[in-house]
Amino acid sequence: MDNCIFCRIVKGEIPAAKVYEDDLVFAFLDIAPINFGHVLVIPKEHHESSSTIPEPTAGRMFRIGSRIGVALKRKLDYDAFNLHLADGAAAGQVVMHAHLHVVPRGVEDGFHWNWRQLKYPDGKLAETARTLAEKLAADLAQLAGK
Ligand code: 5GP
Ligand code: ZN
Repeated sequence: MDNCIFCRIVKGEIPAAKVYEDDLVFAFLDIAPINFGHVLVIPKEHHESSSTIPEPTAGRMFRIGSRIGVALKRKLDYDAFNLHLADGAAAGQVVMHAHLHVVPRGVEDGFHWNWRQLKYPDGKLAETARTLAEKLAADLAQLAGK
């Protein structure tokens, strides 16, 4: 896509600090990191949502993301890493080319996810699981028929 900043990075039209590239994915340093060494792993093909990325590419993104996490621990002295993907503006996606964040973490890095923990009202937990399971079964059956 011509006006997509990440497509332009893949094509070399905009500079980026590349850490990895293969036939399916491209990985480079985030320009405004949570911690130094924060990497973005993207599909070379333009996809706005993670849901449309073909399985081999999606699998490669996850595998390379976690290998980058291991490299961050071994070579840049971090203790751990988060894999994070924002799918949709309401989830915090700003660049509309799907990307997996690999965020290096240290025990005392001062960063915290603002993670709340709600409690389901009676019956709602089972009902929610049922609704999702039915939708997934229908979608996967449709995909298998294609
Ligand atoms: P999002 O909020 O969409 O999940 O994350 C987008 C990320 O892309 C942000 O962390 C931001 O710092 C990074 N970013 C945006 N534009 C550029 C750019 O031109 N180059 C690089 N390397 N990173 C970018
Ligand atoms: Zn793109």
